[in-house]
Amino acid sequence: MTLVYIFIYFSSILVFSNILYTSLEIYFSEEKEVELKRYSNYISRDIEANGYLHNGSGELKDDLDNISDIYNIRVMVLDYQGSVIYDTQRVENNKLLVNEEIVKALSDKESIKYVQDVVNVFTPISNKTGAVDGVVIVSSSLKDIYAMITVIQDIIFNLLIIIGIIVAILYIYFTGVFVKPLHELLKAIKNISKGHLDEKVDIKKNDEFAELGKAFNQMTDRLYDIDQSRSEFVSNVSHELKTPLSSIKVLTESLLLQDNVPEELYKEFLNDINNEIDRQTAIINDLLTLVRLDEKEKVLNITKLNLNELVEKILKRLQPLAENRNIDLIFETNRQVEADIDEMKITLAISNLIENGIKYNRDRGKVIVTLDAGHDEAFITVTDTGIGIPEDHFDKLFQRFYRVDKTRDRATGGTGLGLSIAHRSILLHKGSISLDSEEGIGTRFYVTIPLRRQKV
Ligand code: ADP
Repeated sequence: MTLVYIFIYFSSILVFSNILYTSLEIYFSEEKEVELKRYSNYISRDIEANGYLHNGSGELKDDLDNISDIYNIRVMVLDYQGSVIYDTQRVENNKLLVNEEIVKALSDKESIKYVQDVVNVFTPISNKTGAVDGVVIVSSSLKDIYAMITVIQDIIFNLLIIIGIIVAILYIYFTGVFVKPLHELLKAIKNISKGHLDEKVDIKKNDEFAELGKAFNQMTDRLYDIDQSRSEFVSNVSHELKTPLSSIKVLTESLLLQDNVPEELYKEFLNDINNEIDRQTAIINDLLTLVRLDEKEKVLNITKLNLNELVEKILKRLQPLAENRNIDLIFETNRQVEADIDEMKITLAISNLIENGIKYNRDRGKVIVTLDAGHDEAFITVTDTGIGIPEDHFDKLFQRFYRVDKTRDRATGGTGLGLSIAHRSILLHKGSISLDSEEGIGTRFYVTIPLRRQKV
């Protein structure tokens, strides 16, 4: 590109300087012609007025010599026969000159003729009766003009070359300045496509490129986070699925390695194996639920539903679980609340919260569900009287497989995915979920759901 620009620029300079030369040549030659015509007309009138041609006066020669010196011109005066009466250069004196221009002048017509670098003006000397008495030839060399034009041309040419060089330097400099950040960005993008998701660009300036760099770095941060959480998730899934399998393996091997195993032991071990399989099935089911919730393009199956009835239905279903541990399930509401929701997904969210309230409760504790509504939102709280959650776990609680007490929670049979599912479902409805908790006293989850459908 740069070479093309340079080529175009210098060819333009050459063409321009040629056009300039020709234009100046035409301009100055025309100026010269006008000037010479003025002199020759003046001389012609002067000769005629003073009757020099008839008197043969020596004054004529002095006058012509003066004019020739002052204006740096050659003057020749010819009589009506073409014979040179006086040549200021004294070369043609008394010679007979005949050419086309002299003939024209003798027939009272002015003309101009260029001979090499010399311009000659032929002017008739006419008397009062209109007859031609002779001819004045005024000549001047154009060499000075050509020399001057060449100087002007050289100055402009050199100036354009200098401007060209300056422009080229500036062009190369600024192209470098502009292109450098783009090169950096390109390099970073290539690195990312090779899998280096932690790639960053370092753009120090404070312009659009810096904005671009900032946006790019934010994007790579996000990509990196996504990649990290993906690998974390995969490792968590593998770990969670491996644990029940390891237990099953140990139980099976211990049965296989023993001879004459009593039937009760078989039953006990098979029962344990069955429990592990149930656990694994629960994990896989929860994972599938999450995958489905992650599929953003899947539209929510929204219907207008009475939330009071929905909560009651959930509580009824979970009643046996609560009864096992003598836990009271209480529903408090003093109004009917209707909302546009996906029944299945909101049921999943609220069920998980209530189930947790039961699971992480003390025996004979309580789980209280409240339902209320404002102008735009439904408010649901799920409060338990259980073990509580330390505050430093709050922000990680909704991560997949996150458990506060790893060993203990696994024993309670949780998959570590319940709160992620609840969180995802509520967010899909453009609602919010948060919590408050005090260790040993209990936990309260706050859920808000927009009453009217919002675009997902
Ligand atoms: P899990 O299947 O283990 O219950 P969740 O995602 O539902 O998974 O919950 C994540 C962790 O949060 C639980 O393992 C538990 O440690 C803690 N947790 C959730 N709800 C409660 C609660 N109501 N009280 C105390 N701890 C809770």
